[in-house]
Amino acid sequence: MTGRVLILGGTAEARALAQQLHDVGVPVISSLAGRVARPRLPVGNVRVGGFGGPEALARWLGELAITAVVDATHPFAERISASAARAAAVAGVPLLRLERPGWEAVDGDRWRWVDDLPRAAAAIRALGAARVLLTSGRQGLAAFAHDNTSWFLIRCVDPPDVALPARHEVLLDRGPYTLEGELALIDRHDIDAVVTKDSGGPLTEAKLEAARIRGVPVIVVRRPPGPEVATVRTAAEAAAWAGRQPSG
Ligand code: NAP
Repeated sequence: MTGRVLILGGTAEARALAQQLHDVGVPVISSLAGRVARPRLPVGNVRVGGFGGPEALARWLGELAITAVVDATHPFAERISASAARAAAVAGVPLLRLERPGWEAVDGDRWRWVDDLPRAAAAIRALGAARVLLTSGRQGLAAFAHDNTSWFLIRCVDPPDVALPARHEVLLDRGPYTLEGELALIDRHDIDAVVTKDSGGPLTEAKLEAARIRGVPVIVVRRPPGPEVATVRTAAEAAAWAGRQPSG
């Protein structure tokens, strides 16, 4: 018998894990940040909103009698991962990181790796790109706000609420995307550079193949370093780990 598992979610892997644990009768609470207006919900219990920092999360783990935590948040969600590591240590609750593998370039790709979004903005200027497909998400768009030279097609799930570059169009959309669709988008807007985070996973990778086919350079933002936590790549591995944890 397994105790109650907290899944820090907001990703496809987190939803897959909730489903797998639900299917074998493990009690689960999934936690979402509440960033997206209409999130895709996992099966089972869901709570929404920040905990109020690591100490508050540690208390919450005790109050809810959580016996294991899986941090399945997005590879770029730095603060919640740090908070989870600290809270789990304070509360003495086992923690596992579920993080999908990053993308890897193949023959024909024209990728430039950068450390963060400001450097991605600098890379656009260095490339002299005129028409940029910006897929790095709503947060961090401010890094591009001062670019008055390029035109940006800003694709995100919800409308941005920060300053945007002078010349842009916002495209509200969410994956999964198809190769056919991404090729059409690049062609329709005459895109000559793509910006992406190294989010990994199949749902949004069609843009990379489309860029390769069209010979378009891709500026790829490296993942930030996370806390030192035991890590698995798949929901199945995380489900097996959760099943092995003591029930508290
Ligand atoms: P973040 O910067 O690491 O988190 C900021 C704060 O939001 C955290 O300190 C925490 O507040 C709260 N928070 C974040 N994720 C939470 C969760 N799953 N449950 C409860 N509270 C959470 O995170 P972010 O980059 O804003 O991402 C927020 C969520 O969106 C994550 O769940 C992530 O998986 C998802 N997401 C992020 C990206 C991305 O590119 N960053 C892309 C797709 C999906 P407190 O300190 O008050 O607890």
